[in-house]
Amino acid sequence: MPLLADVAVPVPLSQAFTYEVPAALAGEVRPGARVLCEFHRRKLLGVVLAVSERSAAIDPSKIKPLAALVDARPALPAELLAFLQELAAYYFAPIGEVLRLALPAIEREQVRALKAQGELDGVLDLGRAKQVGGRKVAYASATDVVEEPGTLRGQAAAVLALLRANGEQPVARIEERFGNARSALKKLAERNLVALDEREPPRDPFFRRAEERDVPPELNAAQAEAAARIDAALAALAPSGGGEHPAIAQQEPRPAGQEPRPVGQEPRPSAFLLFGVTGSGKTEVYLRAIKSCLDRGRGALVMVPEIALTPQLVARFRARFGDELAVLHSGLSDADRHAMWASLHVGKVRVAIGARSALFAPVPDLGLILVDEEHDGSFKQEEGVRYHARDMALLRAHRAGAVCVLGSATPSIESVALVRRGKLAELRLPDRAHREASLPEVSLVDLRRFRAGPSGDPLISLPLHRALEKTLAAKEQAILFLNRRGFAPSVVCGSCGTLTTCDACSVALTYHRGRRRDARPPSPGGAPAPAAPLDERPEGGRLRCHYCDYAGPLPDRCGACGARNLLLEGLGTERLEATIAGSFPEARVARLDRDVAGKDRSQAILARMREGKIDILVGTQMVTKGHDLPNVTLVGVVNADAALGLPDFRAAERGFQLLVQVAGRAGRRDRPGRVLIQTRNPEHPAIAFAAAHDVPGFLEREIRDREEVGYPPATRLALLRIDAVDESVGRGAAAKLAAHARTCPEGVARRVEVLGPSAAPIARLRGRYRFRVLLRARERGPLRGALAALAGLIRDGLDRNARVIIDVDPVAML
Ligand code: ADP
Ligand code: ZN
Repeated sequence: MPLLADVAVPVPLSQAFTYEVPAALAGEVRPGARVLCEFHRRKLLGVVLAVSERSAAIDPSKIKPLAALVDARPALPAELLAFLQELAAYYFAPIGEVLRLALPAIEREQVRALKAQGELDGVLDLGRAKQVGGRKVAYASATDVVEEPGTLRGQAAAVLALLRANGEQPVARIEERFGNARSALKKLAERNLVALDEREPPRDPFFRRAEERDVPPELNAAQAEAAARIDAALAALAPSGGGEHPAIAQQEPRPAGQEPRPVGQEPRPSAFLLFGVTGSGKTEVYLRAIKSCLDRGRGALVMVPEIALTPQLVARFRARFGDELAVLHSGLSDADRHAMWASLHVGKVRVAIGARSALFAPVPDLGLILVDEEHDGSFKQEEGVRYHARDMALLRAHRAGAVCVLGSATPSIESVALVRRGKLAELRLPDRAHREASLPEVSLVDLRRFRAGPSGDPLISLPLHRALEKTLAAKEQAILFLNRRGFAPSVVCGSCGTLTTCDACSVALTYHRGRRRDARPPSPGGAPAPAAPLDERPEGGRLRCHYCDYAGPLPDRCGACGARNLLLEGLGTERLEATIAGSFPEARVARLDRDVAGKDRSQAILARMREGKIDILVGTQMVTKGHDLPNVTLVGVVNADAALGLPDFRAAERGFQLLVQVAGRAGRRDRPGRVLIQTRNPEHPAIAFAAAHDVPGFLEREIRDREEVGYPPATRLALLRIDAVDESVGRGAAAKLAAHARTCPEGVARRVEVLGPSAAPIARLRGRYRFRVLLRARERGPLRGALAALAGLIRDGLDRNARVIIDVDPVAML
């Protein structure tokens, strides 16, 4: 019987393809290894999923041999490969696309070796595989040898003098100064005066900067209890995993490797929800858990929402674990990312920390996955493979026989539901860690009753103004949170009321004033300046679409009625910053939102805040993340209502989380904190519970509400997102899908409810019309059955001009 390999290739098809393993490669081709294989007369880079000796199910003459083996050591360890296959099945995503999420770049040396074998002749498609490595940097350094006086002249003498004075140098840098550097160095090397060697290029400075080691504080009672329970779970781990995933399979979780337990005895939990109030010291619990995991010889993975916004958190991990830590962040070069990947892959480094995509890090002997701020929406990938990194962290941990800890001050409703069903064990940290710190006092400012303060802007009420004055007088710091970027969120015609919207999207355009350019001097003689486009005038700005990134000038008249009466309406962070700066001229005001936060800017702004160089920080949800800023005593929520009215069943949950998280930035040390929440809707449960710091109360109520309206976690959802340039094509495809869903067995039996087709709340985006069909079921099984039927229809029976995406457990509902 032939030796056959199932290979996933990077094409948007769900199945793997069968190839024959040539005799020369037998024993070397292993699952997880990359191979070159012929696919429709192209050579593609594929990944071996399985190898076995068997008779082929298809005509043996049609089976092609594998062209070459790329990785001697499989790029994807068995644990990761199995997890990725399960992820692909769960999300109905093409396996080739899913594998791509985890595959490292390909090393140039590997490409070179394949070229030498002649395997890269013909059409090769390495896909989007990046190439790294193979680039060595030549260095020169002076040796101890001393030359005979007077024997060196010209550039040779000068180069040697330079090396002796400044130490070793990359050859390239010497060449910048001396035209004949190469021949001079050669001469010097021949006489043993200089040593030349080749090295790997220097690594990302982020990793070279040493972090001072910290001294672990003594844990308080609640922290100690949580750490002990996690430690016990780690102690109970068996070498490898098995069993069903708690969140997916609706059955009792079975701790890896344990025998069926005696009747009546609860299983030892291996997945936890660490529910600790803001500032309760969750990070310290994570650090202890990792230590205990490492002590047991296993690796750990830490996932955080946005690494750029959590430099402080990363610093704390580095202070504890130093170079044992691989930091995976989007600012890494391909080479550095690969270096990080490789050091995990070979087991040199055993702890990885990173955002969503760190889920796929090849952590060796995975023993622990931590998900910090597990409620954060950024764990859901909203393009390509639409996976949820928190859900998948539970799956990967379970499969790997590892412990999983989800941590938050505002746990997601999904995680709370898992606690209630006994799938997660809850660990609580009820108090702030610093002995003097307590939760801040929260007051609601009813905007219907309070007038504008001295600034004149109704959104900077008198109580907020006074509170800012008091904070400044006490030399303390304030954070003002406003969930809208830009200067004015909408531009409306004062004559006909028409809202200016994006041509490509059915959303309002936001006016951004942008960076103030130097005001042009008035033109001489008072003659009118040549008409400049609005965006180039000193006070000019641009209209921007927050969905498609369109940017254009502010028109001077209404597009509908032609009146020259456009009004800038509403308050965005840009205008808030300007208004605050105008009202408090002595205060140092800064802004943190996506418009100012380039690659390193957010870190710089947060660092200045920490150093006390900013008095008032204005910003979007970027200011709500887990920052630990000791001197912040006032938090103002400028408009709590902005997020609560969205047509999304999670709007209240998300609004609540934002309020509690931003409030949690105040009073984290000895000075008491104060929070002002401005609203026109003080009775809204999200606001009322946040004001009372009553997280469990809100969760309780929200779970009940979801049960009543039949939304997750009471039910399970899948969203079919359909879009097309032509409205009728999109509408037609959506109708066809909905009809198919209703007539498939699960639809007919009403085990799956079909809602729609309907236009999406944002009906048009980037020039495409959007429709959707929502599938809802009490149980996962029938939902999967219906999705499988629809996946078949999407594959071969739909209009090619319509694009359909299956979004399992959707998060973004707009
Ligand atoms: P969380 O992540 O729960 O919001 P942090 O981990 O940022 O809280 O902790 C808040 C503050 O308390 C930090 O400054 C941290 O150093 C400090 N802290 C944590 N645990 C202890 C402890 N056991 N004793 C003293 N201080 C602690
Ligand atoms: Zn747009």
